[in-house]
Amino acid sequence: MKFERFDEVVKFHGHSCPGLALGYRVALAAIEELGIKRAEDEEIVCIVENDSCAVDAIQVITGCTFGKGNLLYRDYGKQVYTFFDRKKEKAVRISIDFELTETDEEKAIWRRFTEGERTKEVLDFINRRKAEKTKQILNADKEKLLKISYPSFNPPKEARIFKSLRCEQCGEKVAEIKARLLNGKTLCIPCFEAILCKK
Ligand SMILES: [Zn+2]
Ligand SMILES: [Zn+2]
Repeated sequence: MKFERFDEVVKFHGHSCPGLALGYRVALAAIEELGIKRAEDEEIVCIVENDSCAVDAIQVITGCTFGKGNLLYRDYGKQVYTFFDRKKEKAVRISIDFELTETDEEKAIWRRFTEGERTKEVLDFINRRKAEKTKQILNADKEKLLKISYPSFNPPKEARIFKSLRCEQCGEKVAEIKARLLNGKTLCIPCFEAILCKK
């Protein structure tokens, strides 16, 4: 019952996996900490420090989405998620700290997988382990899974609407802030880079 919304997340993401389960737990912890249901607008902002499966769960459960601009991605490769509630002026930082114990036999099979072995034995094992791991994450004590702290409230700026320009190379529109100027020509980044590469 507690994890009833996991199905919703799996449907959006396309499959069930440990990463998704981690993101789901983070999202549940965040809405609990902030005392919210879902972010309809931009009152809740989330900064994610990775682009793994977990982020899909964050989007479905918290309503912080890439498209709305209240989900910001920092490419740090860390399992850290910081949420800001603009109304309450409250911030919560959630980092995943989860270590799975593995036997030597399990480690050996994982090694075979990473070395490229795709036999039925190895694949069955991997799938079984993934399913077990997902279940373990969904049922783990919050305290054992997540480290929660309360940094000072310092939210990112609100998403702004930018004026758009037309790229003089491809003719497509581009947000002014992303446009490049080369020899007096306004260019989008792909056109700008293509011209630079040809030189
Ligand atoms: Zn996944
Ligand atoms: Zn262009």
